[in-house]
Amino acid sequence: MKLFDCHMHSTHSFDATATFDELCESAIEYGLQGICVTEHIDFDEADPGYNFFRHDAYMADIKRCREKYGDRLEILTGVEVTYQTEFVDEIKDFLSTHKFDYVLGSIHLIDHIFVLSPRYAKGRSKEDAYKAYWKETLAMIESGLFKYIGHLDYIKSIRSQAYGRFEFEEWLPEITEILEKVIETGAILEANTSALRRTYKEPYPGWGILELYKSLGGTYVVMGSDAHSPSQVALGFRETAKRLQEMGLVICDGTMLTSSS
Ligand SMILES: [Zn+2]
Ligand SMILES: [Zn+2]
Repeated sequence: MKLFDCHMHSTHSFDATATFDELCESAIEYGLQGICVTEHIDFDEADPGYNFFRHDAYMADIKRCREKYGDRLEILTGVEVTYQTEFVDEIKDFLSTHKFDYVLGSIHLIDHIFVLSPRYAKGRSKEDAYKAYWKETLAMIESGLFKYIGHLDYIKSIRSQAYGRFEFEEWLPEITEILEKVIETGAILEANTSALRRTYKEPYPGWGILELYKSLGGTYVVMGSDAHSPSQVALGFRETAKRLQEMGLVICDGTMLTSSS
């Protein structure tokens, strides 16, 4: 099947090294149907991505690469917005004044601190750290601002030995409530394969959460590599897609992505 990589970053994001052309060439080499370059949109001054994105320069690259690669690759416009309850008004304002094919919502910061940093874990019990993350995730979905929900259990990569290994069953009530809200609001979960780069053998969210999503009535998923360099494009896609399909989940293709956004 032809796959779409709906999550990657170019040099229009503060933390990526890949040029637009390199991302396109990697995608063509892998045999993808299309890509969406989802640059970071951050509203917190504490975030290194704050005020980094330049819409005009991004759209110029989109136009140029569609002309250069458009016969071999579909290229959608998109962003990955860092959701923070404190900045809902700014997010709404941004999304109402900028149009994209694809808008992904992700949680990266809680209380202005990057959730995977040791600083976030410092002084927080495991319970506090995780519950704040699930609460913010639920708020993001309830906001209705995002059709697509990025790396749902990203918090499992928190660098804290004190917290031990992540077991999703420990947070079953919170995760169930989140998944039910995703389904109820018609949002779609992302299966983010960047977790494979962090030694996991499963995407974000993991297989257990994806199975729960399916059992609760979830149908659709989008796939994203979260590539920040060309070699990370579509990382683990064929294996991950196979497993998602075996679970009975439907992976959004280009037609579904453009008609549903
Ligand atoms: Zn992210
Ligand atoms: Zn990302």
